[in-house]
Amino acid sequence: MGGPAVPKKSQNMFVRKTKTKSRIHPLRDKAYKDYEPHEKNLDYERHFRNKQYQHPFYREEDIRAILEKTGKHSKKDELNCGACGYDTCRDKAISVLEGLSHPQMCMPFMRSEAEKISNIYFEYSPSIIVIADLSLNILDLNPMGESAFNTTIGKIRNQPLSSIMPTEDFTEVINTGESMVGKKLNLESYGKIMYERIIYLPKNKIL
Ligand code: SF4
Repeated sequence: MGGPAVPKKSQNMFVRKTKTKSRIHPLRDKAYKDYEPHEKNLDYERHFRNKQYQHPFYREEDIRAILEKTGKHSKKDELNCGACGYDTCRDKAISVLEGLSHPQMCMPFMRSEAEKISNIYFEYSPSIIVIADLSLNILDLNPMGESAFNTTIGKIRNQPLSSIMPTEDFTEVINTGESMVGKKLNLESYGKIMYERIIYLPKNKIL
């Protein structure tokens, strides 16, 4: 009546069911000897072939080479988390050799790559980047910020943000829950005029 082999353009389920019933019904109480020749000679023969997939054999060094591509340099790097859809990192590496997946299809690897990119941006950004918690204590400051405020993150980490700059705008962002973009800020004590961009990240409890 249905199933994966039913053509998409076939009639709907109700029509198919009705037709099947009308074909079967006259035969239901009929003895075999009373069957018409064409009813007796129905061909029920089906041919099946073995479609079992045989995994090719891959050399250990080829599997290791794929694992290396996603930062799995030793057994402890193989998290076997299953996020890629394979039970183990080795199964995933084999699937890459089989051409069924891509080496980069690994969530922990992609995440660490994204973190590396954001770390590079943080380190080398020409803008001052300061990260504070919702109590307005400093969590991090990039090298450009260290240079602008004549300090180092080692000295000011967990210190009040107010120790290096005015915090009224940060308080407003927390109170309104809305990020602030492009506000001019004159830091006379540093001889600098800046444009503030305060991004509120409540889920991470930082801004
Ligand atoms: S997502 Fe990555 S770490 Fe997790 S099982 Fe797959 S290959 Fe291994």
